Amino acid sequence: MAVTISERLGAIAAYCPKGARVADIGSDHALLASFLLENGVASYVVAGEVNEGPYRAAQKQLADLIANGLASVRKGDGLAVLRPGEVDVVCIAGMGGQLIVSILERGKAKLQDVRRLILQPNVGEERVRRWLWQNGWQLSRETILKEDDVIYEILVAEPGDPAQPYSGQERSVAELLRLGPLLWREKPPLLLEKWSREREKLQRILAQVTKSQSAEASARAQAVKQELNWLDEVIRCLQTGKP
Ligand code: SAM
Repeated sequence: MAVTISERLGAIAAYCPKGARVADIGSDHALLASFLLENGVASYVVAGEVNEGPYRAAQKQLADLIANGLASVRKGDGLAVLRPGEVDVVCIAGMGGQLIVSILERGKAKLQDVRRLILQPNVGEERVRRWLWQNGWQLSRETILKEDDVIYEILVAEPGDPAQPYSGQERSVAELLRLGPLLWREKPPLLLEKWSREREKLQRILAQVTKSQSAEASARAQAVKQELNWLDEVIRCLQTGKP
């Protein structure tokens, strides 16, 4: 039966170039890998999984494609499952930014011939952008989407000039690493929703910390207020389209 995938995985699949050899690291049930092959997007996939349960599920999902030499399911940590030059595209999705960065950092040697990274951190996008910047990867696309009321960002990068997407903008690099340089240029409505949600979260934190009289709480409240001021200004720009 044809595999159906979520809108989030569909958006990731849309960034895989036709005919590419694709690695999906942390593939879970290998739905993305399966979809890419069934729909003639990828020419070959490697599904990598560190945990036994998802590894077995991926093997089951891809059994026919493995038999036809189109897929390989490998158990191991991050990019260690890949041979150098084996894939053109690496997808890492559905994990925290910190874990994605640690997988990329530890597997750097395997990225030499990779032409595109498609990364979807559930949290910690800033860390991922920083790693890309520090390691010669240029963001080429950023997408924001909402599914089941959760907002996700997808970052696509290629070897190039990492500073390019950050140049010619009025915001500092530090701010753009948080906001997303390409998302900030485009200002899609969901970016306003994302940062409005962040503001609400911080307002709740501020209400909590101001209940306490301790010096520590008052320092924390000060820091939260500063962050709220920044967010207010960011949100005003998103509402008015200002740079
Ligand atoms: N990529 C799929 C998606 O976006 O829907 C699955 C995401 S699932 C939440 C994260 C998967 O990554 C889990 O199946 C987990 O076992 C796997 N994983 C976590 N750390 C990993 C690592 N270092 N190497 C390979 N897989 C890992």
